[in-house]
Amino acid sequence: MRPESDFKEFGAVAPAHFNVVYLSPDDASLIQKANDAEVLLIPAVGPKIPNDFFKKTSIQMVQVTGAGIDRVNYDFCTQNNIKVCNVLGASARSVAEYCLFSALAISRRLIRTTDEIASGNYAEIRGNIIKDRMHSLSGLVLGIIGFGTIGQETAKMFGALGCRIQYYDPSRPKVDQSLASIASEIGKEELLRSSDIVSIHVPLIEQTFNLIAEQELSMMKDTSVLLNASRGGVVNENALAQAIHDKKIKGAAVDVFSSEPPEKSNPLLNLPNESRANLILTPHIGGITVQSWAELFSRSWMNIQRFFDGEKLEDQQI
Ligand code: NAD
Repeated sequence: MRPESDFKEFGAVAPAHFNVVYLSPDDASLIQKANDAEVLLIPAVGPKIPNDFFKKTSIQMVQVTGAGIDRVNYDFCTQNNIKVCNVLGASARSVAEYCLFSALAISRRLIRTTDEIASGNYAEIRGNIIKDRMHSLSGLVLGIIGFGTIGQETAKMFGALGCRIQYYDPSRPKVDQSLASIASEIGKEELLRSSDIVSIHVPLIEQTFNLIAEQELSMMKDTSVLLNASRGGVVNENALAQAIHDKKIKGAAVDVFSSEPPEKSNPLLNLPNESRANLILTPHIGGITVQSWAELFSRSWMNIQRFFDGEKLEDQQI
């Protein structure tokens, strides 16, 4: 369910001996065209794949060209022995760079300067930014919730700029020696209370829905910044908009929404102008760079080859 042109552009085409049908998710004859397919390849972002799609086709494996596997029903795939794989790590640098850029743009107040200067407000915007005080990242505390592949890559980048790193992840993930020397494990509440920047890197699952809501936001420092490039639904949008409006936190970067594109009524889109000075909204592009797509596609085809060869699959999540 990706156009063939995507694979050609990034130099990661399907092996010549594969019989690939390129489908559009809104094709009316989708199920008919996919009827004989054994493998489904999908982007991580898009509408849910209904269980019916699997009941009416021969698909036994789903390869996601990304990290999130929330487009398929976990229980249904488990019960029906449909293997689901993602490509762990391929977009980790790209998401980490997105978080680093967002944190810098907010702490240096870069979000609206171009428009303000173009509108003739040079002296005013300069005065306001200096009055509000900018921060370098050096010495700030970064709290990471979800310390898997992307969380750890994010820690390395912020660590290189002198941030102190603390993380919360109940699965106690393996952390390599060099990272362990700069990152310390901490409870969730303590992390929220003591971090200058909180970055979320969990999957969207039942336990992470509304993981950050009113209560959690109320624990954060009023000078802190929240970064969410995980999945919409993990951070409660009403609570986040209210916290920004009431200046309970300083700002936020939001790459993912509870529905994408977000509804016009989404509270984050309806904040007054002054509340937007420290808010970055982006259309789910944290993980997308030329480098990450090239790797995501080529590793996906290799994994599908493993499936046909009966070999152990990489990054099998279900
Ligand atoms: P990962 O599986 O390597 O790491 C996720 C970590 O979250 C795991 O260590 C897990 O133990 C932890 N976790 C689960 N529940 C938790 C909880 N309640 N509290 C704290 N930690 C919890 O996955 P990853 O590759 O690091 O990706 C993380 C998520 O990032 C993906 O599931 C996807 O939704 C999102 N993502 C977004 C983009 C984007 O473009 N914005 C790109 C790639 C991935």
